[in-house]
Amino acid sequence: MSRGNVSPRRQAGRVAARVRPRLGRLRVAGSPLFYVAIILTVVRSNWPVTAIVAVGAGVLAGPTMPAGVSSRLVQGSGAWALWLALFVMIGVLVAFLIEKPETMLRSRLRDAAVSARLLRALERGDVEAFYQPIYRVGDGRLVGLEALVRWRKSNGEYASPSTFIPPAERTGAIALVDEHVLGKAVAEAAGWPALAQSVFVSVNLSAATLARPHLVAKIEGLLSDAGLPARLLQVEITESAHIEDLPDAVRRISSLRALGVKVAIDDFGSGHASLNYLQCLPVDVVKLDRTLVTAVTSDVRRRRLLVGVNQMCDLLGLQVIAEGVELHDQLVCLSDIGIAMAQGFLLGRPVPVGEVRDLIGESGPR
Ligand code: C2E
Ligand code: CA
Ligand code: CA
Repeated sequence: MSRGNVSPRRQAGRVAARVRPRLGRLRVAGSPLFYVAIILTVVRSNWPVTAIVAVGAGVLAGPTMPAGVSSRLVQGSGAWALWLALFVMIGVLVAFLIEKPETMLRSRLRDAAVSARLLRALERGDVEAFYQPIYRVGDGRLVGLEALVRWRKSNGEYASPSTFIPPAERTGAIALVDEHVLGKAVAEAAGWPALAQSVFVSVNLSAATLARPHLVAKIEGLLSDAGLPARLLQVEITESAHIEDLPDAVRRISSLRALGVKVAIDDFGSGHASLNYLQCLPVDVVKLDRTLVTAVTSDVRRRRLLVGVNQMCDLLGLQVIAEGVELHDQLVCLSDIGIAMAQGFLLGRPVPVGEVRDLIGESGPR
């Protein structure tokens, strides 16, 4: 019988019969070997690539299933497909189980690498503070300057805090960054002209920095070394950062206030703990997050919310600073509501220390 007369089914059966014993030999280590391929892919690649390899491995490994199964395929049995699906599922599961810790490990290594470079930059003096002005809404006078960290890269450009603050918070390197900025801000503010005698400098502290032992003593030392009155320093505790030990934070905040340092809750309204923090933390100032200020002109509910928040702060004896003012109409609205202080790109972007004197000069004598 010529080859062309053989039915496709019989031909496939012959091929299967020839191939299966060879693949069957692979089975000794075959199936586990496919999983080794998947594991290696997980280690070297991302989740989608791994999934593709897992499916590919399943397809290839299908014929290595128990003897007779592959030939049943050509006889129309669904068993081979079932084995194949099972193999693919196991492959995907293996990939998934290994991928999770692998991803965590990768992100930890990335955080550690960023933090290590950041610490070297701190030592080299490549980490600076920029200052963003804070104005009194009523008369437009400069009342404060917020210190915002900037990392100067070798090409002279500055890295945004969003690229290195979150990794530094995760590794704990943030405390060293905060203390560095604190030291710089206190020393630099002490050197500003006499005109600035009532312009405070405001420094961001992450929750981890607040929890550092000796923080209060350190701040006291910095102020006395620089000769800056404590009333001209404000620290901003960011609301999104999770404070683990609330009673301890309360004690430290109270100690800072006893020195005369002002304490603000930052990003108020952006997280879930806003009211809780307001209840628990003995602060002087509330900084309203940009999200509360945006759309205040176009959305009456937002406006009423801001009116309510401002009244609540007033009742609690807290000062209010609105952040992220970008439009003139927003400023007018804040003024109508009676919000005392504001900062934002409309009023002034963060500037290097060299330009602060211009800001103070523009503000005029107090
Ligand atoms: P933040 O404390 O809420 O600081 C205000 C951020 O909003 C700054 O971003 C500022 O440049 C930006 N900003 C000011 N006005 C406007 C505006 O009108 N529109 C918009 N869209 N943005 C405005 P920056 O400097 O990139 O800092 C980002 C965040 O990084 C800060 O948010 C703060 O949470 C953190 N950060 C900055 N410096 C330090 C620091 O020394 N220590 C710690 N722990 N965190 C810091
Ligand atoms: Ca802040
Ligand atoms: Ca803020």
